Amino acid sequence: MTDLRSDTVTQPTEAMREAMLTAKLGDDVYGEDPTVNELEALAASTLGKEAGLFAPSGTQSNLLALLTHCGRGDEYLVGNNAHTYRYEGGGAAVLGGIQPQPITMNLSGELDLEELCASIKPDDFHFARSRLLCLENTHGGSVLSAHFCNQVRDLCNKFDLSLHLDGARLFNAAVAQKKHPKVLAEAFDTVSICLSKGLGAPVGSVLIGPREFINQARRWRKVVGGGMRQAGMLAGAGIYALQNHVERLSVDHKNAQTVCAVLERKFGTDSARCATNMIHLDLSEKIYASLSKTMSALGVKVGRPRWVFHLDVSSLDVERICGAIDSF
Ligand SMILES: *Cc1c(COP(=O)(O)O)cnc(C)c1O
Repeated sequence: MTDLRSDTVTQPTEAMREAMLTAKLGDDVYGEDPTVNELEALAASTLGKEAGLFAPSGTQSNLLALLTHCGRGDEYLVGNNAHTYRYEGGGAAVLGGIQPQPITMNLSGELDLEELCASIKPDDFHFARSRLLCLENTHGGSVLSAHFCNQVRDLCNKFDLSLHLDGARLFNAAVAQKKHPKVLAEAFDTVSICLSKGLGAPVGSVLIGPREFINQARRWRKVVGGGMRQAGMLAGAGIYALQNHVERLSVDHKNAQTVCAVLERKFGTDSARCATNMIHLDLSEKIYASLSKTMSALGVKVGRPRWVFHLDVSSLDVERICGAIDSF
């Protein structure tokens, strides 16, 4: 079975399982798990920041960032289709009394800067206090441009806002742009990365930022129940992923491009859009349903018209998928 529904479906490889089995363990709530400590240090140095904090999910890692940047009655500005706005259960509002201010966002993940500026509240007790801006890289596979990130950084400096990046797939962006992840993280105060997407670990995210910030986020992690004990078994997978599964993301990007080209040839150039490891299909409901059936008969699972490539999709799978589209 090949599963294109998401890059979260990957199984740990044999070598990753070995790294998990042999990881040195301790109680991480006491700060004594050497493997968790190593992962946090590795993630921080990889992104050029002071400290890291291992969290069980990207949702929690982003939540810890929001709870630490903002207090009750504060506000974060965020893209209206961003994960931290739409797909995290409203956690910042539920648990932190933090008001989200959604801003129109395009398919590339860029916010409308005019609308953004107009939405930043002046210091007046009628308003929530604008504290934080959140971006996402990649957004639906699309890579944020350095130009946009720099523009936003300048705005944040001007309006005294902190800047957080939901970098669930930051490494896809880095590999696609052939840039060190440090460079992509530079404009941001804090960054959340996912180990369980394209990097292929079974579980885990890391929140990265200044040491004092991470100390406070660690308190919030305990509050929301994210303090795990011998978590080194999971962190070991994360270290393995950071050391072995970053460069190979280019294979996923290439596979997505290959399949996208075949879709375009078959259904027209507007029928599919490729962005790093994802293809967004734009077909009539009827044709898509029929194509999904064909894929299913081939042993390829697809869900909504977004196909995601990852390390459990082989070159043989790609050949079979292309063949099936060709003769559809
Ligand atoms: C997956 C994802 C997250 C985190 O999701 P979890 O399933 O909680 O790990 C955050 N942001 C984006 C853009 C994501 O794709």
